Formats: sequence, C-alpha cells, structure tokens
Amino acid sequence: MSDEAIEESEKGQAAEEQAADGPSVPQEGESGPHSGEGHGAPDKSARRTEEEPAPRRAEISNYRIVEHWFHAAAERLELPDDVAAVFRSSYRVFRSAYREVQVQVPVRLGDGRLHVFSGYRVQHNGARGPYKGGIRFHPEVDLDEVRALAELMTWKTAIVNIPYGGAKGGVNVDPSKLSAQELEEVTRSFTNKIEKVLGPQRDIPAPDMGTNAQVMAWLMDEFGKLHGHTPACVTGKPIALEGSFGREAATGRGVVQMVREAAREIELEPAGATFVMQGFGNVGAWAARLMQELGARMVGVADASGAIAGKDGIDAEKLADHVREGGRVADFDSGAEQIDHDELVALECDVFIPAALGGMIHEGHAADMQCKVILEGANSPTTPAADRILRDKDVYIIPDVIANAGGVVVSYFEWVQNLQHFRWDEREVNDKLGTIMRRAYREVSSRARDEGIDLREAAYLVGIERVVEAARTRGYV
Ligand code: NAD
Repeated sequence: MSDEAIEESEKGQAAEEQAADGPSVPQEGESGPHSGEGHGAPDKSARRTEEEPAPRRAEISNYRIVEHWFHAAAERLELPDDVAAVFRSSYRVFRSAYREVQVQVPVRLGDGRLHVFSGYRVQHNGARGPYKGGIRFHPEVDLDEVRALAELMTWKTAIVNIPYGGAKGGVNVDPSKLSAQELEEVTRSFTNKIEKVLGPQRDIPAPDMGTNAQVMAWLMDEFGKLHGHTPACVTGKPIALEGSFGREAATGRGVVQMVREAAREIELEPAGATFVMQGFGNVGAWAARLMQELGARMVGVADASGAIAGKDGIDAEKLADHVREGGRVADFDSGAEQIDHDELVALECDVFIPAALGGMIHEGHAADMQCKVILEGANSPTTPAADRILRDKDVYIIPDVIANAGGVVVSYFEWVQNLQHFRWDEREVNDKLGTIMRRAYREVSSRARDEGIDLREAAYLVGIERVVEAARTRGYV
C-alpha cells in the first residue's frame, strides 16, 4: 500500500471502514478510537510525581497497534464483519456492563496528602476460559493501554493454547516513587475496588510492569479477607505463598526458548551470538542471563535510567546483582560506555530484545536498526509502521504473542497447582513450559510457511481462529 493510501485510510477511521478497505498501517501520533470514550476523563493527577525520563515511545497507542494486527488477520480469515465486531471491543459490549472497570484508588502517601490514582481492569474476551492477565503499575497506564493489553492476552492465551480468556489491569502510579508501605496501600485499595470481578474461575491477575510477587501476595491476602484463603485467585505469587517454582524466570525463559527454536530455521547460532536488551526488569534480566548461559554476549542494555554498550560483552549476572541491590543500568561499572537510547537501538547485533514498554521500536528509528532478529519480550514494542520497515530490511521478528507467553504459561501451571493443592518441582515446570512454547512456535511457524506470511500474522490467525471457534461453539457469535 502506498504512503498516500496509508495516510488516506488512517485519519482516525473506525474499524468498520478498515474492515471494508483492508487493514492499513496506523500512523504514529494517533491515540486510537477509544481514548476515554464513555468513561469520563481518566484521573491523571497522580501520574508523574517527579521528573521522568523523556518518553522514548512512538506516539501511537498500544490499542492501535493491537487493532492493526487483529484487522489484518480478520481480513485474511474472511471473518464476517458482525463477528469481527464482537472481538474488536471488550466483553462488556455484548455480555454485561461491568467488563471494563475503572476505579479511584485514593491513598494517603508519606507527604500526608491524599493522592487519587486511577485503576483499571478490562476483560476482553472469556470464550476460552477465565480471564487472565497481568496488573501494571506505571505512571502512563490509561484505559486505552489496558484495553490493548487485555486484547493481546486473549490472542496470546489462544496461540499457546491454554484455557484462558484475556484481561489486563493497571494503576497509573509510579512504584519507584513509593515506599513499600505506600505500595501495599495502593495494591490493597485497588484489589478492594475490583475484587467483585476477580476469582479463580472468573479473572486471575498476575504481575506485569511495576508489579512483582510481593504485590501479588498483598492482592491474594486482600482477596482472602473477603472470600477466604484462595491462592488460585492470582498467579506470580511468592514461593512461600503457593507460588510456582519457575514463575519468576518464566517469561525470560520462554523468550530464550523462542530464539532457540527460531535459530534452527534462520541459521543463527545462539552460542556466540550478540544481543541488545532494552529494559532490564523481570523479563529483561532473566532473558539476558539465560541468553548468556547459551553462550550469547550482551553488547548493549538499557533501563529507564539510560543505556550502556560494550563490544566485549556486559555481564548479565553481575548487572542483575547490581540492579537487585538498587543500582541503575547507567551506573553499572563494567568498562561499558554510556550511550543514548537512539544509539542503543542502532547497535549492531544478532538479536535485539525489547523488554520495556510498548511502542519503543517506531518508525523514527526502525531504519537505523542493525539486528538480524527482534525477539519481542515486551508487549507491543514494535509499531506497525516500524514492523513494515523492518520486514523490508529482512529482520526476522518473533512477535510478543508467542515470544513473551512463557509467563502466562507458567501462571497457568501455578493456577493448576493451586487448584490441586499440589506442587510441581522446578524441573517439571520448566519441561512443561518448554513443551508448550516449542509447540506454539512450530504451529505458528508452519502456518507462516504454508501461507507465505510472517510469524506475527500467522500467530494472530492461529489465535483468532481458536477464539472464534470457542465463541461459536458456546453460541456467542
Ligand atoms: P519490569 O517493571 O520488571 O521492568 C521494566 C524494565 O523496563 C525496567 O528495567 C525499566 O527501567 C525499563 N524501562 C522502563 N521505561 C524505559 C525506557 N523508557 N527506556 C528503557 N527502559 C525502560 O517489567 P517486566 O515485567 O520486565 O515487563 C517488561 C515488558 O514485558 C512489559 O512490556 C510487559 O508487559 C511485558 N511482559 C511481562 C511479563 C512478566 O511476566 N513480567 C509477561 C509478558 C510480558
């Protein structure tokens, strides 16, 4: 499609038009058709408590990114417009009015003032099972972002074929600016406001950006006050509270399993390969250490504080220790040089792993990238415009919906263990994770080969087909 045609079709058009005209690449700078719609303006008063690093994301909403891939797949599957319309929005549209919950989270912080944060829980689709999806604490969380991430979970759980629907939640709070006590207050207050839509057979949260096992423990405890001890109400819990062995590392482990699978197809030798890690939190730090175990070398890494590069390699284990002790990547004393974020993105490497926010690989710098593979640890890190540029450069993209599914797969194992009150050892968890991830990659990759399309398009076809089939069989569509 020409640039003119892209611009023409992208002036904030509703999905109906796209279904008729075919999917197009959304322009960066659009926030999407749903921003704030019908929900009142989200409360942003508590968003940025201090100076933040300059945003490095594309100005396209996550919602527009996920919608783009859905429309492309729906068109290829020749999904009727009325059926596609059901999956285009969250469940509330045709089932009940309470599938997008927006709540106030008022918390008195250490400064003595009451801060009112905004909390969200969105349930996109539950045709294949209870809703499943993480909870994000980040100052930029808003309803649009949570919607996009909820929809992504619907397709992701279907692609890896575990019996869940898709949901997501979040609070627009910056956890790095809160004490542990304040964070606990936020978590308990939020849980209290949304507990009616949660439960082990209803909707099961998990960690995402800015949340961790401790936050899940508070959530479980708060839920338990109202419903009795219910460990299966949330996953990603600490081991001491019926968490699963292997859950903390699971997303990073799954990311690395994907590159091992892909390596066979694209003549990449993980031992000796170079990689760049954008984001060094749960996903990034685990993926980096496991890549290093395979013999790969980290030549660049960033977190929100800045980026560093070193041709001879930056030790992922030592960096993880430094970060665990409260250090910032930019201050890591390893002989690596400090670089800016655009330089990080343009570093020459075999594998570039985005593991931070959505929209961080955008058309502003995609043409400068010098990697062979993009392995999407983050959700929606690549905008559709950047994806097109990278495809033209023959960069092999392993999309988020399979690459980072390891976390929800082991969350599923945790839920199963909790329901049975029976614990598996770590080896069993990792073996089962490997089986599911390999199967998912092979199914998606063979579909891509059969239809002559890329992995992302193929993954969406596989996922959407499964959800549509479940919805049809239930009699929803
Ligand atoms: P996290 O909060 O543990 O870590 C996020 C990292 O990104 C931190 O190092 C942070 O400093 C960095 N970061 C934030 N803004 C940045 C910026 N502007 N530039 C560079 N780095 C920046 O979060 P996480 O759990 O590792 O999640 C990371 C991504 O992976 C998110 O997109 C999340 O949705 C996705 N994901 C996480 C899981 C999981 O199990 N945790 C599962 C699937 C997908």
